Amino acid sequence: MSGMDAQSLLACWEHGRRRHGIDRALLLFAAAEPGSDPETLADRTLGQRNAALLRLRQSLFGDAMQSCVTCPGCGESLEFTLRASTLLERAPARGDRALADVRAAGHMLRLPTSRDLAVIAAERDEPGAVRHLLQRLFVGNAPAEWSDELESQISHAMDEADPCMDLALDFVCPACEHAWNAPFDVGAFLWEEVDVRARRLLDEVHALARSYNWSERQILELSDTRRRAYLERVLA
Ligand SMILES: [Zn+2]
Repeated sequence: MSGMDAQSLLACWEHGRRRHGIDRALLLFAAAEPGSDPETLADRTLGQRNAALLRLRQSLFGDAMQSCVTCPGCGESLEFTLRASTLLERAPARGDRALADVRAAGHMLRLPTSRDLAVIAAERDEPGAVRHLLQRLFVGNAPAEWSDELESQISHAMDEADPCMDLALDFVCPACEHAWNAPFDVGAFLWEEVDVRARRLLDEVHALARSYNWSERQILELSDTRRRAYLERVLA
């Protein structure tokens, strides 16, 4: 596990900027676990992916994550601070390969992976997509009879087995007291931050290269502190 230096951050951004969110999260997952074979990361569980992205986020930008949501009741915009460490408390012990199978309603299922998400990515009907996803996860035959109750039992068992799979947050609106639950997409959140950092790095390279004639590589190899110190002098 390591953070990303300026060059790998830019390379990751360049590869991911025109890709789907699932692929972007996988690129970040690969950056978080440089020792892993990137081909196998799509087969790791979503909980393992999310935990790795939270740790990468801590190493790149710190623990506190500022975000905001809109209240579905009254439209009020709520700002909140999430801690990556708090979300990581939900994660099973690191390297726990035992978390593979889930039992629910007498059936055996496996936990979902990025590959499963990719299969349902194009589906527009959200409840249908969830059902399709869950039906892929049966080890052996999926049950012939399907019900909302079975679906909720399976979802519950999945959450118990891999609490980092769905980083859902509970909100209560201070303006209208509406209470709701919304997913937190750590991949999309971190990608936004990487995007901002990458664009700033490009601006910095642009300004320093023009003034000092240094190569992109030389500028990116500078520590953040030195790069900004030179930049202050250029802009002074
Ligand atoms: Zn509200």
